[in-house]
Amino acid sequence: MDDLLRAFSQVGRDLWRSGMVTSHGGNLSVRREGEMVITRTGAMLGHITQGDLVRVPLEGEISPRASREALLHRASYLHTSAEALVHAHPVHAIALSFFRYTIVPKDAEGAYILPSVSVVEVSQPIGSQELAQAVAQVLKNAPIVVVKGHGTFAKGRGLWEAFYYTSVLEASCRVLWLLKGVSFPSS
Ligand SMILES: [Zn+2]
Repeated sequence: MDDLLRAFSQVGRDLWRSGMVTSHGGNLSVRREGEMVITRTGAMLGHITQGDLVRVPLEGEISPRASREALLHRASYLHTSAEALVHAHPVHAIALSFFRYTIVPKDAEGAYILPSVSVVEVSQPIGSQELAQAVAQVLKNAPIVVVKGHGTFAKGRGLWEAFYYTSVLEASCRVLWLLKGVSFPSS
């Protein structure tokens, strides 16, 4: 197994095992010279094989085999410093996105790594040009963004770094939910 496939399959497996994607949800990509390598549409991230990876040029036609979010991944490579992207559907972050335009972690790791995370809202939250532009705009200056009701898009120098931001944000969102409505006596 080559290094690229190994990174895709290990990150995909960890995303799935940690409940941050459903069986066939989410997608991953990595920037290459003049192109990107992205998971195919309908791929199971927990079980990625060579046949699940599709090469897409940074300009020109996008193969119909590529993920439905290929347009968004490409816009992010064209407009940001991203070397890799992780798109997941972490449930606590998604649930919180219905109530916030900005997510501010309260736990120490989240507050340190991701002090403030933007939530964007678009009329077509899957596969649209509108979504691609909104996400790429935020990722110019931030490592991760949440699309309301849909999920997270994180960039990194590699898949593992993008996975890390996804993981930190979801843990922070779990803490925010656990704190919600809790009122302990002060002594
Ligand atoms: Zn999605």
